[in-house]
Parts: sequence; C-alpha cells; structure tokens
Amino acid sequence: MKKTVFSAMRPTGKLHLGHLVGALHNWLDFQENYRCIFSIVDWHALMGEYEQSKDIHENILEMAIDWLACGIDPKKSIIFIQSHVPQHLELAMIFACLTPLGWLERNPTYKEQLREIQTRDLQTYGFLGYPVLQAADILLYKAQAVPIGEDQLPHIELTREISRRFNHLYKKEIFHDCEAILTKTPRLLGTDGRKMSKSYQNAVNLSDDEAQIKGKVSKMFTDPKRIKLSDPGHPKKCNVYSYYQVFAPDKSEDVYQWCSKAQKGCSECKKILTAAIDQYLTPIREKRKEFENDKTRVKKILDEGREQAAEIAENTMQEVKRSVF
Ligand code: SF4
Repeated sequence: MKKTVFSAMRPTGKLHLGHLVGALHNWLDFQENYRCIFSIVDWHALMGEYEQSKDIHENILEMAIDWLACGIDPKKSIIFIQSHVPQHLELAMIFACLTPLGWLERNPTYKEQLREIQTRDLQTYGFLGYPVLQAADILLYKAQAVPIGEDQLPHIELTREISRRFNHLYKKEIFHDCEAILTKTPRLLGTDGRKMSKSYQNAVNLSDDEAQIKGKVSKMFTDPKRIKLSDPGHPKKCNVYSYYQVFAPDKSEDVYQWCSKAQKGCSECKKILTAAIDQYLTPIREKRKEFENDKTRVKKILDEGREQAAEIAENTMQEVKRSVF
C-alpha cells in the first residue's frame, strides 16, 4: 500500500513559474511513488480573499487546467475542489471545538501575515482558524506525508497536536502523526528581485506567451554593478542567472563565462533567457489550450476526483462521529 500524500493550493490567481518549480515539479515525482490527493482549496482562498470572492470560481478552473497541463495525471492522483467535499468543514468544526485558542494565536505564520499583509483585512475568526481547516484537510485522508516549505512547519506541528488531542480525548487512535516532506525547491525570485507573488505583479505566468515573457524578462533586475557592456558581471548576484540555472541549466556555464568576462550584454543575455523560458513553457501552453477548449473534460476530472475523495472522507467521518458522539 502506497503512503498517502496530501497537498493543496489556494485558487487565488494564475499559476506562475514559482508554483511550477516550488510545488508542481515535486508533485509530478510524488504521483509516481505515493497515493496523491491534490486539492484546490477554495475555502482557504475565501478566508483570505473574501472581499474578492467572485474571482475564486474562475480561478478554480484555471488552476485545474494549469495542473493538468503540467502533467498532474488524474489516473495517478485524486484532484478535487475542497468545497465539493463537505466533510472538510465537518471535521474542521469538530477540531475547532477542541483546539485551544492559544495554539492558534501563537502560530508564527498567523502573526507574520497579520503584520505583513496590510491590503486585506485578516482580523477574522475564519483566518485565525486557517490551520484548523488545514488539519482537517490532511487528517480527513489520514495522509502520512505533506510536502511543505519550511515556513509551513508550525502548521504541520499544529496538525499533529490537534490529532493527538483528538485521540486522547476520545480514547481512539484514529489519527496518526503526519510527516512533513521538506521539499527541495530552487530559489526563484520575482522579476523585481522580491518574493515571486501575484500581488507584486512580478511573476511569469505559465500561460504567458512569448511577448509577455519578453516584456517581463526585459524588466528583470540584474547585477547592479554591471553598468556598461565592458563591466565584468557577477552572475551569482544576478536574478537572470538564477533563472538560467532552472530553465536552461545547459546554458548556465556559458552565461557565467560571458557575464564574468564581459563578453555579452544584459539585453542579449535576457533575449536568450526569454527564448529558453518560452521553449520550456511551450508544451505546457499547448496542453493548456487543449484543456481550455474542453472544459467539460476538466469538470469531469474534478467530479471524478470529488467522488474518490468523498469516499475516503466519509469513511473517516464515520469513524470520527462514532468516537465523538
Ligand atoms: Fe545578469 Fe546576464 Fe547581465 Fe550577467 S549578463 S548581469 S547574468 S543579465
């Protein structure tokens, strides 16, 4: 029996290169070796974006199309929309009853987001309870492993604490500790050198065409000390070079040479990178088009995923309810 991996994304906008190298590449590997359950977590999107709730619906389908275009295979993985499996909220409600408020208020990610995100009102009951719903998402499928970045470690710890508290209170070993898989992801910053994010408008999207990629790459920050063509550059300090390492690793040695020996200018270097990213994204874009033109197929995949997920979720909820009531 393969181990179960649960992972999810919030449908908050178009997927970009950061999602591809930070999550989807790992998911492609996981689906060969684990039973994978991938969820489009629209309740989580609503918690942070409730003022723009109309966008969530459209983003869900776009996200499913991106996943499928990148190679997430419904024959190997369960792909579904969180809100279509109502057991997520049922289990979250039970967990909410037994989770001490202090555990949530102490959560460093919660505190950081309240501090950093000024553009949205996050002082809500729902947002504080975000990790409770996340614990329900994971434990509903009794996932043994969850791929995460280091910043998500406190959430996994909270999931473990909630599951242990549940088992202790109801004297049943229903849930087991889940393990965090700390994924290796290349560091890919946005085109302006900040964290890549839709809100900073500094990302190359998976659906971008060559002209859009060119526009974004041409504005990328480079080594600030390289002002003239004759100035030798420092590729390791240049964001463009880090993109080469991910999307055209076969060219990165050449880039290192031409930059540090001042043999090519930044515009030419960016032109070559644009072509490399475009070539990288072409098969994904073509697949994307196929799914965009056949949304009935995409909806059918999501519906079949919902049926598979709901069956597992209902079995867990039966056990949970027998223990609690
Ligand atoms: Fe960056 Fe390329 Fe310019 Fe070197 S030549 S500073 S790697 S853009």
